[in-house]
Amino acid sequence: MATKTEAAPTSGGAGAKPAAQHFLQRIQLFSLLSGEECDAIVRRLKRRDFPPNHYVVREGAAGDSMYFITAGKCEVRKKDTSTGIEFLLNELGPGACFGEMALLTGQPRTASVVSTEPTTVGILKNDDFRELLLQHPKIGVSLTTILAERLQQASEQVGVEYMNLARLQLDPRVLGLLPEQTILHYKVLPVGFANNRLTLAMVNPDNILALDDVRRFVKGVMIEPVVCTADDFGKFMSGPYRTLMKKEEEKRAQAAKADGGVDEAVASAMTNTEAVLDTFQSDSLKDIDMEEVTEEPTASATELRSSAEDAPVVRLANAILALSVKRGASDIHMEPREKEMVVRFRIDGVLQVMQTLPKKVQMGLISRMKILAKLDIAEKRLPQDGRISVRLENRAIDFRVSTIPSKWGEKICMRILDKSNTMLGLDKLITHPATLERVREMAAQPYGILYVTGPTGSGKTTTLYSALAEVNDPDINISTAEDPIEYDLPGINQVQTHKDIGLDFARVLRAFLRQDPDVILVGETRDLETAKISVEAALTGHLVLTTLHANDAPGTFVRLDEMGIEPFLVSTSTIGIIAQRLARRLCQQCKEPYPADEMTLKYWGLPADPPVTFYKPAGCSVCGGSGYKGRIGIYEVLRMTSPVRAQVIKRANTDEIRETARADGMLTLKDYGVLLLKEGLTSTDEVLQCVVVQE
Ligand SMILES: [Zn+2]
Repeated sequence: MATKTEAAPTSGGAGAKPAAQHFLQRIQLFSLLSGEECDAIVRRLKRRDFPPNHYVVREGAAGDSMYFITAGKCEVRKKDTSTGIEFLLNELGPGACFGEMALLTGQPRTASVVSTEPTTVGILKNDDFRELLLQHPKIGVSLTTILAERLQQASEQVGVEYMNLARLQLDPRVLGLLPEQTILHYKVLPVGFANNRLTLAMVNPDNILALDDVRRFVKGVMIEPVVCTADDFGKFMSGPYRTLMKKEEEKRAQAAKADGGVDEAVASAMTNTEAVLDTFQSDSLKDIDMEEVTEEPTASATELRSSAEDAPVVRLANAILALSVKRGASDIHMEPREKEMVVRFRIDGVLQVMQTLPKKVQMGLISRMKILAKLDIAEKRLPQDGRISVRLENRAIDFRVSTIPSKWGEKICMRILDKSNTMLGLDKLITHPATLERVREMAAQPYGILYVTGPTGSGKTTTLYSALAEVNDPDINISTAEDPIEYDLPGINQVQTHKDIGLDFARVLRAFLRQDPDVILVGETRDLETAKISVEAALTGHLVLTTLHANDAPGTFVRLDEMGIEPFLVSTSTIGIIAQRLARRLCQQCKEPYPADEMTLKYWGLPADPPVTFYKPAGCSVCGGSGYKGRIGIYEVLRMTSPVRAQVIKRANTDEIRETARADGMLTLKDYGVLLLKEGLTSTDEVLQCVVVQE
């Protein structure tokens, strides 16, 4: 039995000082315990490691222990009984715990937890938990608080209105927003829709799971629960509901017929999308001017193609593309399952189910997407890559499309590249004036290397291009080597690397140097050769901008040293380093202020006086209920100064370099995160996730 547990979220180096707080103290249940007491608990934890995509706990299983995540990431999923699909409820990272309720009640697990990365958890068994309760009465105090809070939440919902279903005139289109199985399963009924608010009659208004599931069917709206009696609900469902829905079905069938005898499943899927999005949302999809700029494909006509060109399939495909852009998604996943097809969007870094389509739609829709991407629609056994270019509201948008064969059909994944570069501009990215000034100063240097570091998806490319846009001037020669080319920049020589034909970054870079460039952008420095040529280019009078995988700014020197670049060369060629992360931005419409307590302030290195207000996510129609809208950068900008240079040459460790850079005024990622917290731009969870918990 392993007893070793990591000293948790501060691993990785952003927190220069040892953790001020034991990681267990950040879990509400143990918040009142001392560090030693927490250590005693850690010794009782049983450590287990999970590879990605493994069940940590299964829904329905017996709940005899609670879990603490010490490293990695997990998803909480719950099975929808009517479709058998697992929905994503939440994502958990280091410091999170789960399973305490099952432990207390002895009831089976109400959700599954699945690892999405290599994950380490500490497990506390039932018997140990009971013993701990006896030994540490403070845990009991915390437990009482937690239960009291849950009780209060439940009682707050007692104030909801009562509604008599028999007296209402109900619109079948509103009733049709939820499938009958869901209505019967949760005993909920959509009874009204106005001003983006859905009135939901519920027999059990405190059924939070029901609300969560309803939100999955009706996206981006506020839900207003009202109470109805079980008797009332039963009467309505057995009588008026059937009559109303039957009439509506007949109407739909007629409409489908009028459409020219098209596939009914497609028609009803569309009716559903349109019912929600067109009829009720004022900014409907119809307002979007969707204009393809691709020429017609030259592929020979096949049966598949004709099925893909049915008007409803075309409209459905367009609606999915348009909606993804409108929602600000970065990726679209179209995933065939055994009995249906699921469309998921990645929004602000989180995958969300957008729609579940009938299986019949699958072939037509996939074929349509492949036609748009100029792929071979007859080839279904091999992966293919392509691109769809469209114009939406005068913006040029590219979808990078890839297909892979999966068990239940071809899966399509699309990365959305908005080439209109409306996001570019250092001043749009960096909100802190002093940090912005530093970056501008570094980008204005005539030669040297500027590194941008961070994990995948942290917005490195956007920062790099924004810096490039600032130096772009007709009388200088700028060349870029990229994979892929994510933005179109006027007046710049952009080259796409092709590894499979030997055209890698190093080779393109060498060719550039023969073409008299002033500024070179290298998409990524990932090998010694590329790193070496960049250093050479910098030392011979060129400005080089590039990205590198490193945890933080001081860590970049270690990374370069590991790659095999002499510290002396690094110290003379580097201008500076920008380390960055992207945090989800709180929805400014619905964020909720709360006074930060003493322990929180201490953790973030803030004095207890004067009082500080932090904000947490709530959820409204603007942000689709998530409480977050858009993202915001967290930056750590290190400038190469003589003291830093001296330390790099003598291979000082990252902590020493960090302290030296801080003396020069560098804000660490955590410092910058605290600034954003104080301004109410993001939440503590987000900063913890991005900054303290490192990859
Ligand atoms: Zn909101």
